[in-house]
Amino acid sequence: MAVDLQARLTTRLAERRANSLYRQRPLLDSPQGPEVVVDGTPLLAFCNNDYLGLANHPEVIQAWRNGAERWGVGGGASHLVIGHSTPHHALEEALADLTGRPRALLFSTGYMANLAAVTALVGQGDSVLEDRLNHASLLDAGLLSGARFSRYLHNDPASLATRLGKAPSTGATLVVTDGVFSMDGDVADLPALAREAKARNAWLMVDDAHGVGVMGAQGGGVVEHFNLGGDEVPVLVGTLGKAFGTAGAFVAGSEALIDYLVQFARPYIYTTSQPPALACATLKSLELVRNEGWRRDHLAALVQQFRKGAQALGLDLMPSHTPIQPIVLGSSERAMAWSRRLREQGLLVTAIRPPTVPVGSARLRVTLSAAHTEAQVSRLLQGLADCLALEPTDE
Ligand SMILES: *Cc1c(COP(=O)(O)O)cnc(C)c1O
Repeated sequence: MAVDLQARLTTRLAERRANSLYRQRPLLDSPQGPEVVVDGTPLLAFCNNDYLGLANHPEVIQAWRNGAERWGVGGGASHLVIGHSTPHHALEEALADLTGRPRALLFSTGYMANLAAVTALVGQGDSVLEDRLNHASLLDAGLLSGARFSRYLHNDPASLATRLGKAPSTGATLVVTDGVFSMDGDVADLPALAREAKARNAWLMVDDAHGVGVMGAQGGGVVEHFNLGGDEVPVLVGTLGKAFGTAGAFVAGSEALIDYLVQFARPYIYTTSQPPALACATLKSLELVRNEGWRRDHLAALVQQFRKGAQALGLDLMPSHTPIQPIVLGSSERAMAWSRRLREQGLLVTAIRPPTVPVGSARLRVTLSAAHTEAQVSRLLQGLADCLALEPTDE
């Protein structure tokens, strides 16, 4: 007799609750920004990925409005049928230019861009090597591809080299890493990873969801920061729902790579194009990303302020200089308790728990945005000080 699915659901949900792993969706009742209304309560938030404060920018909103007037609402079809419109095309060209690649290909989400790139490039008989802390979408893509899948130690070029040495020479090898690690905030050692990959004739794919817009003088992300071309990083993924403040994603690379993805990447082919007006909004936000360097400067200053203040409190910070500043607290219970105490003080920082992060490393994932003020960061530091004061001491 088959397993009863209803019984399975009930048991697993009960387990999740018992382990402090049950997830709830805070209901946002305001636009995205530092000051939000969540579940009916005004809160000062430090947990979105709107790093440059563009998600609710008046010029971006206006560009979306104008786009809708001009192009209507729906994409209407997949790109290969009749859904590839002028704003999509213009955005691809602007993204290629921003990242210094010959071409870019637009996707509706980063999850899809990652699935598309990995599953189109490698399959049975090939190998895919991933950093063990890669984003879930990259790990899923690697498993789905059917290629021989293995993980190397976090941000460790020597561990990658060992794995590369074991990959069979009969197939192709794809090395995949986050550019900025989404839960730790550290930056991948791309020059060294690229060297190891090249030495073994493997391709390096970088998912720079948290680097584009934030890193590099123009916001070109980690590849601009390290000055790495298509030779070192042949496959570059960026997303538009974070620093760009809109939605969607892109893969950037050579003429041949993009041509190949258009022909063979199923998550590209079998889906409706994003609304063209969204591309209009993203084109405006790309302009702001490139031209308003003060957003990156202000953000960097807030990161410094936060780190200095948190260190003075004796908090254990991670080696991150990006706007992702996690405070690792260990158990899920402790992370939840801190998040709750902050909320009682009007501060919203979500607790991130396993399986999103390894067991025993539950954390508050603090993220900073150019939309925050120094005074708001000070309020967060005060809230953290109060959390510390309320902790039961061991002695
Ligand atoms: C957010 C994220 C994605 C997914 O992008 P979406 O556009 O939100 O689907 C992919 N990779 C990383 C590293 C991310 O942080």
